[in-house]
Amino acid sequence: MNTRKNAPLALVTGASRGIGKAIAEALAEAGYHLILTCSHTLPDLQEVAACLEEKYGITCTAMAADASEPAAIEKVFASLDHLDVLVNNAGISYIGLLTDMSVEEWQHVLNTNLSSCFYTSRLAVPLMLLKHSGRIINISSVWGNVGASMEVAYSASKGGVNSFTKALAKELAPSNIQVNAISCGVIDTAMNHCFSPEEMNALREEIPADRLGQPEEVAKLVLQLIQAPTYLTGQILTLDGGWQ
Ligand code: NAD
Repeated sequence: MNTRKNAPLALVTGASRGIGKAIAEALAEAGYHLILTCSHTLPDLQEVAACLEEKYGITCTAMAADASEPAAIEKVFASLDHLDVLVNNAGISYIGLLTDMSVEEWQHVLNTNLSSCFYTSRLAVPLMLLKHSGRIINISSVWGNVGASMEVAYSASKGGVNSFTKALAKELAPSNIQVNAISCGVIDTAMNHCFSPEEMNALREEIPADRLGQPEEVAKLVLQLIQAPTYLTGQILTLDGGWQ
């Protein structure tokens, strides 16, 4: 894997579309070389990587790596000798009654959204410690704070991401490694395509900004966090148009 030793390097999980794709583009524009992962959409991710290489003159490696599988994540890190930025973005939703949810479905949501942050961070931190600097940003949800009806696993996983962020920030602050989360409201991505137009309109009407957030707005905040002083750490920044 060509990651040009000492060139600023960022890893974004779940970058084949939506918020992860927008974050990858913002980082590429800022001059970061990239490692991008996804689970089942490698051709899409390869297309994203090729576009970013051509447009921004960076190196961008696309890898199929299921974020819920520790062994797959170990393979991603196997050839890395440095890492400056880790964005834990991969995530899935599950909408349904608690009583309809199987143990396997519960575990899959928790593994994909929460355990994945542990699987990547445990391998990223030793690389960041080598430089006594690094940035970890976890993409969370307002449901992690307030809970969503019929989304118990998703809400619990994102609440866990928030606690994980705060605890890890305390552990890593002495090492100059910043850890923050962005708690998104409703962002205009395929994740919300399961809702009908009527349901989306009803949601939008609850949002003071009177519109959905755009993936590029999340990406802009990721970049601002990376450029902020490392003294800004352990924060859950809400990006929701004034909703919650
Ligand atoms: P999306 O469904 O458009 O994209 C999700 C990305 O994650 C895709 O690239 C997909 O391939 C990847 N992915 C899914 N499971 C994976 C796995 N096991 N391993 C590796 N990659 C995997 O969703 P999105 O809206 O872009 O969501 C990105 C993140 O933002 C998620 O963590 C989500 O929970 C969070 N979020 C989204 C919203 C929203 O309204 N869209 C709101 C709050 C938080």
